[in-house]
Formats: sequence, C-alpha cells, structure tokens
Amino acid sequence: MLIGVLALQGAFIEHQQMLAQLGVASREVRQRKHLDGIDGLIIPGGESTTIGKLLDLLDMTEPVRALGRDGLPIWGTCAGMILLARDVGRPQTVLGLLDIAVRRNAFGAQLDSFETPLAIPALGGEPFRAVFIRAPVIEAIGPGVRTVAELADGTIVAAESGDLLATSFHPELTGDTRLHEYFLAKVAKRLLVGAAVGAS
Ligand code: GLN
Repeated sequence: MLIGVLALQGAFIEHQQMLAQLGVASREVRQRKHLDGIDGLIIPGGESTTIGKLLDLLDMTEPVRALGRDGLPIWGTCAGMILLARDVGRPQTVLGLLDIAVRRNAFGAQLDSFETPLAIPALGGEPFRAVFIRAPVIEAIGPGVRTVAELADGTIVAAESGDLLATSFHPELTGDTRLHEYFLAKVAKRLLVGAAVGAS
C-alpha cells in the first residue's frame, strides 16, 4: 500500500510520520507524475487558497479531481477538507469532490486555535483529541454524505462519502493514529475489492 501525501504546502510531514508509525509507505506528491500508482491520497492542512493555486499552476487540479471521481480514497484535513468541498462560498480553486458546504476560518479570531475532546462514534472508545487551527466547519452536507463527528453544539467537523473523508481538525498533530487507521481501512478495502475483481 502506498499513500500519497500532497506536499505542496502545509502539514504534510506530520501525516507522513503518522503513516510511518503505522508501517505504511508514503510518497510526497509534488508533481503530476507522483500521483501514478498511489492507493490513497491525503491532502493536509495549510492554506487552501495557496494549495489550490499551486495545484492549478502545476496542472494537478484536474488529475487529482479525476482520481477522486474514479474512486481513489482521499482524505482532506483542514485546508484539505476545504479543497475537497463542493461549496466554499467564495471563488478559489477546489476539487469539489465531496458534497459539503464549508465555511473557512469559522471559529473567529479569539478561537483561531483550540483543542477539544471529540466523540467520533465510528472510532468507538475514547474521545479524540481534536486540534483545530483556523479551522473550517461544515455548514451543510448533501445526500450521500455522512456526518463522522460533530461538536457539542451540533457543528459538523468531519464527514465522509464512500472513500472520501474530510476532517476540519488536525489528527496528524496528536499521537492518536485512529483516524489514520480509519482512512487506511478504506484504502485496504478498495485494494481488496480491486484484487477480487482483477482475479475474477
Ligand atoms: N484557514 C485555513 C484555510 O482556510 C485552513 C487552516 C488549516 O489548514 N489549519 O485554508
């Protein structure tokens, strides 16, 4: 299994470290050719406008979008979640793969960054220590999109649809590998299905 981590800007190294900790190979995706042969893609946190501009500049927007449409598992964290979204309420390059509407920098100046224990039912067990850094929130989800986590007031901060996952916080900045494992399970499942189809 090889996981691509989009490495144009932002917190990509931390994702790679988490993957290494889980014994999974990763590749920094900086150019189109680095997309070849990956089994899943993580789009890290950072600045979504910058990452979007770089994707355009490097002619990578459409190739990444096409891979997502073809079913490549993609996980976007924070800025990565914004890039996955269909609607960001302002003109900027996004992939538009996931039917969610997001609001950037939703927690305002005072709460630019904070940590909170977050219940994530799909992970079971202990709450997740969620780190929010100038984080977006999900204001609406379309049909076929499932809420994965919400704050106590009902604000949606993680959602998924098929093999696309979006989290508005930064799981790569904690020692908790559970969300990485959750994403890797999607990748593994898709690889198994692909192998079964190939063998039949
Ligand atoms: N505020 C950033 C944006 O709008 C996201 C912040 C982050 O990724 N930590 O792109």
